[in-house]
Amino acid sequence: MTITDKGIYCAEANVYIDPWKPVDKALITHAHSDHARWGHKQYISQHSSVPIIRHRLKGANVRGVKFGEKININGVQFSFHPAGHIIGSAQIRVEHKGRVEVASGDYKLEADGISEEIEIVKCHHFITESTFGLPIFRWRPQSEVFSDINEWWKKNKEEGKISFITAYALGKAQRLIQNVDSKIGTIYTHGSIEIVNNLFRDQGINIPTTRHLTSEISQKQLIGNLVIAPSSALGSSWGKKIKPASIAITSGWMTMRGNRRRRGADRGFILSDHADWDGLNKVIDATGASEVTVTHGYTEAFARHLSERGFKAYTATTEYTGEQLIENETPVEA
Ligand SMILES: [Zn+2]
Ligand SMILES: [Zn+2]
Repeated sequence: MTITDKGIYCAEANVYIDPWKPVDKALITHAHSDHARWGHKQYISQHSSVPIIRHRLKGANVRGVKFGEKININGVQFSFHPAGHIIGSAQIRVEHKGRVEVASGDYKLEADGISEEIEIVKCHHFITESTFGLPIFRWRPQSEVFSDINEWWKKNKEEGKISFITAYALGKAQRLIQNVDSKIGTIYTHGSIEIVNNLFRDQGINIPTTRHLTSEISQKQLIGNLVIAPSSALGSSWGKKIKPASIAITSGWMTMRGNRRRRGADRGFILSDHADWDGLNKVIDATGASEVTVTHGYTEAFARHLSERGFKAYTATTEYTGEQLIENETPVEA
């Protein structure tokens, strides 16, 4: 595979992986908007991403495949393998004439209780992200982070406040819903999150009970409960009505303390759906690859680090954005 100005390209099969410009055939690792973009004639993704892609890209022609299912395109064998990033997220394995390459999309190593756990796929060439590819990014086990979140929620409840927490509508929100202690109170969701929850529930994926926060629900009803919304809701008129509230942000970027203050939040929880420094290195080592291409994040620094460790490492210019402090995934609906 090579990286062209349209995306990750497999010339033998004439297909692209996560292309950012319109192409005929696109294999999609997952439904985040920087990986699943407009305008392709055909999309192929793992089954649970199909309804999300169809919802976000109205009219898209999407074919679903199972994890591990082998598909042959012009003599090249493709298969999708769990990436552990969000529900349905895949690494795409490409095999041709004995050579194996893997485009990993976004991934993480820690089991999050809701996404399929990452599968290590042996390969010669591994294409990796490096959103958090600096040694300052090291995640604590999620059990510790969730116990902090539960403590924060309980304390707010005692103080008569609403707990207002931001998370990506696709991925982080479902991870929060799955892992917070729902005995503390009710989990209310912003419309953009509830749509995604229902797209998963309709496929038989078990997302714990949530309530869509509609205009019929009074602020008084919210006291003591948890409200989950995308970060774009923070400064919106929708978000400003939620009070009295303690506001928290969940993001890998909360590692840098200034980010929380700049966003006007009371708490920052370091929680990411991307691999941290150790996770990136562990996964890359485990693949057995000798060649690594770094596509987004701290590409230069991370590729240099890999070169020093003996890999043939390359950087590529792509249009993937990685985790953003302010979610650009979904517009805030009224
Ligand atoms: Zn992603
Ligand atoms: Zn990404």
